[in-house]
Amino acid sequence: MKKLLEFIQINKPVALLAPSFPVDFNYPEIISILKWLWCAKVVELTYAAKLINKQYHEHLKNHPEQQRICSNCPTIVQYIKNKFPEHKDKLMPIASPMIIMSRFVKKQYGDNTKTLFVWPCLAKKIEAKMTGEVDEAITFKELQELIEYAKTQWITIDTQKESEFNNFYNNSTKIYPLDWAVAQTMNRKDILTDDQIIITDWISQTNEAIKRMESDPNIKFLDLLSCPGWCVGWPWIISKEDKETKAQKIRDYQQKMKEKEQNSPKKGKIEYANWLDYKNTFI
Ligand code: SF4
Repeated sequence: MKKLLEFIQINKPVALLAPSFPVDFNYPEIISILKWLWCAKVVELTYAAKLINKQYHEHLKNHPEQQRICSNCPTIVQYIKNKFPEHKDKLMPIASPMIIMSRFVKKQYGDNTKTLFVWPCLAKKIEAKMTGEVDEAITFKELQELIEYAKTQWITIDTQKESEFNNFYNNSTKIYPLDWAVAQTMNRKDILTDDQIIITDWISQTNEAIKRMESDPNIKFLDLLSCPGWCVGWPWIISKEDKETKAQKIRDYQQKMKEKEQNSPKKGKIEYANWLDYKNTFI
C-alpha cells in the first residue's frame, strides 16, 4: 500500500472510475475520497463506453457479413487467443473502455498525465501492464485497503474537497458492467436482432457460445463476460450481496444522475474525441 500511495502522491493521477463503483462506494463521497488521496481528477469510464459503442455500431453496420466477439473483457480476450486461436480475428479491433479512457485523458489533460484505473477485477491489471497504456490499476478491494492505510497516515478524510466528477461522462452507459449492456446501449436497431446475439456471464459458457457461433452463420455478435454475475460478480468486488441487488444499485445510480446530467456541460459528446485512436493492441 505504501508504494501505491507514493505513486498517487507523486503523480497526482487522473482516477478512471469503473461504472460498477456504486456497488461498493457511495456517490459523491467516492470522488472526495479519491481527491483526498491526491488524485488530481476523477472521471467515469462511461464516456469511453459511449465512444466504444459508436465504434462497435459502425463496425457491425459496415460489415454485416462478419461474426464478431466483444473485446471489452480481458479474460475473454486471453481465453479466445489461447483456446480458440482460429477465432482470434473475430475479436473486435477496438480497444477496451479502460484503454480508450486512458488514451483520451492523457491527450485531453496533457501527455504527462498519469492514470489510475479503479475496477473490480484483477484481469484489468494484466491488460494495463501488457498494453502499457494505464499507469496503475487497482481493484475496489485494494482501494478500500488503501483508504484504511491512508487513514493511518493522515487524520481524517476531507469530505469538503470537490465532490463532482470532472469532464466527461455519459448516462446510458452507466449500466455497462451488466449483461446485455453493450448490445443495449450501442444503438443496434437495424443492425442486429436479439437472435443474432449471444450473451454469457461465465467463462464455462464460452465454449458453448463459440460452438453455436460456428454452427450458425446468423449469429453475428458475442458479448462474453467471464465472471458469474457480470462485472459485479468478481470476488474482488467488496459487496457480498446477490447480483440482482448489486445491479439494482447501478440502475438506481443511473436514474439518480439522469436529470442532473441531462443538460450538464460536462456531458461527454462524441465529437470531443474525433481525433482518438481506437486500435486494440491487446488482441
Ligand atoms: S467480466 Fe470479470 S474479468 Fe471480465 S472485465 Fe468484467 S470483472 Fe473483469
